[in-house]
Amino acid sequence: MIDLTANTEAGGAAVRLDAVRFDYGDMAMHFDFAIEPSSIAAIIGPSGAGKSTVLNLIAGFETPVSGRVFIADQDMTEVEPSQRPVSMVFQDNNLFAHLDVAANVGLGRKSNLRLGEADHAAIRDAIAKVGLAGKETRKPQALSGGERQRVAIARALVRNRPVLLLDEAFASLGPALRHEMLDLIGQLHTDTRMTVVMVTHHPEDALRLPSTLFFLENGRVAASGPARELLSATGPALLRKYLGSQELSL
Ligand code: ADP
Repeated sequence: MIDLTANTEAGGAAVRLDAVRFDYGDMAMHFDFAIEPSSIAAIIGPSGAGKSTVLNLIAGFETPVSGRVFIADQDMTEVEPSQRPVSMVFQDNNLFAHLDVAANVGLGRKSNLRLGEADHAAIRDAIAKVGLAGKETRKPQALSGGERQRVAIARALVRNRPVLLLDEAFASLGPALRHEMLDLIGQLHTDTRMTVVMVTHHPEDALRLPSTLFFLENGRVAASGPARELLSATGPALLRKYLGSQELSL
């Protein structure tokens, strides 16, 4: 059983999908790859390739037909999502409109919001880390889109899990805000050394942070390696084909 009080300061956890098979109708997926502890993994690929499914398998929202999911070398395949050492941020940040910033962050700590002093301290710390100090009593509607995503990130941070999953978390933001959020994730990664797994449909996101790229196609990893190498002009042909005329800029 994973120690859920484990502090992210202690670093990230390795994530391994070991001969995982998963089917959606006609779509047969097969994942067999590992993400290094404390690394940043960027998962890219065409729509329908299985990117969200990978995150759902890691988070436990989906269960493999066969194969095992390991986190920190522990078999998580049968473990409930709430018991896994991961937190997840979605594109739609699921903030409660009637709760202020502090309470929305506090939900990551305790879903009944019965918070003790240590919880309040963790909440204050997370709010400061994402740059929202002074906005604790604001309601979500009084925040910008970028600030709302900062609240969602702070909510993930107070959970103190060694793996952070981002499912197109910044896709609805414009380029400048998206870059700001990626820089925040980079900074939090440097501070906590948590393992970050991000699904993005912007390949340049993988270049903004020092990432390992996993390129998915038809329900499997078709190429993986340092993003800078894979996305360069001398990268694999299948990636150059996928990127087509997309311009990659930082
Ligand atoms: P991506 O995130 O790369 O766009 P997904 O992981 O969402 O891909 O989906 C992979 C495949 O599984 C797609 O073919 C998609 O149509 C199918 N799929 C995803 N979710 C469901 C679902 N709930 N029911 C049936 N098929 C699904």
